[in-house]
Amino acid sequence: MQVHLLPALSDNYMYLIVDETSKEAAIVDPVEPVKVQEAVNQHSVKLSTVLTTHHHWDHSGGNADLVKMMPNLKVCGGDSRVPAITKTVKHGDELKIGSLNVRCLFTPCHTSGHICYYVTDSGDRCDPAVFTGDTLFIAGCGKFFEGTPEEMYNALINTLGELPDNTKVYCGHEYTVNNLKYARHVESNNSDIAAKLQWAMEKRKKNESTVPSTIAEEKKTNPFMRVNVKEVQQHAKENDPIKTMGFLRREKDRFKAH
Ligand SMILES: [Zn+2]
Repeated sequence: MQVHLLPALSDNYMYLIVDETSKEAAIVDPVEPVKVQEAVNQHSVKLSTVLTTHHHWDHSGGNADLVKMMPNLKVCGGDSRVPAITKTVKHGDELKIGSLNVRCLFTPCHTSGHICYYVTDSGDRCDPAVFTGDTLFIAGCGKFFEGTPEEMYNALINTLGELPDNTKVYCGHEYTVNNLKYARHVESNNSDIAAKLQWAMEKRKKNESTVPSTIAEEKKTNPFMRVNVKEVQQHAKENDPIKTMGFLRREKDRFKAH
């Protein structure tokens, strides 16, 4: 499996996922179709599938133009608000990109139809990857526009948190530095957070991406994946992980990084 990062708009990421054996490819959230076409040509791959994480314009807004440019694409998504959708997927559905397997994970909260895509190599030759849209960011998570703290808890702890530790995390936006500044506010004594913030600031100074992370790293540094940790609950003055989740989201919505 190869994953090519394609930056889009001001801070979005599109991802071209390639099965090296067959050269078949899928694109995650192709908001800028011309850039997608260029990458498809540059890497000489055959694009078969669009994986849409959710209907928000900055993720799905390129679907209609892309299918005009490349007819016969399969367009997957979690609800009918996804433009040009040909296949509405639900939790546990599987599809193939050449020899790669894609499992659909239903993670409603940011939107009620949000899907994450978990991709594995049939030969087990490389680490698995998960494409998390606006559900899980590096050191953060998406706003709860259409869901509850309980739903985000299910998404982050019960669904994404159960993936293997070495799963690479490819998220929808480059929000890492601001997220880690908030994480530091929540846990000022967490040395993993301090070290990753230092690293992320250096990457961004060089205009480099902080993607991918891993599920293991997120469990160490992402406050929203750490709502069962005593220090995080103490920060929220709660002893319940779902109430802690709600507190963190409300506090983060008001937080100004400096
Ligand atoms: Zn969104």
